[in-house]
Amino acid sequence: MSDLKLQHLEKIYDNKVQAVYDFDLDVKDGELIVLVGPSGCGKSTTLRMVAGLEDISKGKLIIDGKDVTRMPPKDRDIAMVFQNYALYSHMTIYENMAFSLMLRKENKNEIHQKVLAAAEILDLTSQLNKKPSQLSGGQRQRVAMGRAIVRRPKVFLFDEPLSNLDAKLRSATRREILLLHKRLNATMLYVTHDQTEALTLADRIVCMSMGHVQQIGTPLELYDTP
Ligand code: ADP
Ligand code: ADP
Repeated sequence: MSDLKLQHLEKIYDNKVQAVYDFDLDVKDGELIVLVGPSGCGKSTTLRMVAGLEDISKGKLIIDGKDVTRMPPKDRDIAMVFQNYALYSHMTIYENMAFSLMLRKENKNEIHQKVLAAAEILDLTSQLNKKPSQLSGGQRQRVAMGRAIVRRPKVFLFDEPLSNLDAKLRSATRREILLLHKRLNATMLYVTHDQTEALTLADRIVCMSMGHVQQIGTPLELYDTP
């Protein structure tokens, strides 16, 4: 079980910009939620508060019944999937995926099992000894996901993961995210400004406008109105 409660979250930056206010959402275990809205409406700030990369000014964040509002990122059981440019070019694919677990000083055998399991899910088993530069764009994108999967997080976060990709890679990556969602039955929060992306991915869509939640609903509920 990994449900996530965002309770009246609020963010006021140091320059007094109120980026997010009264953000209220219950994410069910295994749900894929897409936050959608125009640039500057507070999507990324919301995601970063959940990740622990931004302090929460007001409100509470609960994961599996545990209040993590003031917890550092490493204690939150959450993984943010960064785009492929965040791979370490001098390391092998294996090392890229193992790296965060090595930093946590996990047992070598366990790390090995986790990396192999993630590679299997992502069809990267035969690529483990290669360097990122030897992989295709789609494969590199999967390695970026692999780095999150090995940590077995309760919640996966995606911040506009398709925005810098060409059309072919976008659809491949979108498929990959959906597959991951199904296979791991993972709880996911996904940010985009693209409504089509929201419609094709989401279990539920959260529409944001000027720092607050305007509407929440399934794709059908939100866009199938006559
Ligand atoms: P979105 O992800 O929807 O584009 P953001 O969360 O990035 O929106 O930004 C929401 C608002 O907060 C914007 O007005 C933006 O200018 C402001 N903002 C974002 N980051 C910072 C920051 N580090 N300091 C001050 N203001 C910020
Ligand atoms: P198993 O026998 O459990 O299936 P292997 O030991 O054959 O797994 O390893 C599978 C792949 O994992 C190898 O091709 C290798 O690339 C990679 N690998 C294993 N251990 C390491 C390590 N310590 N450092 C880097 N890569 C490793």
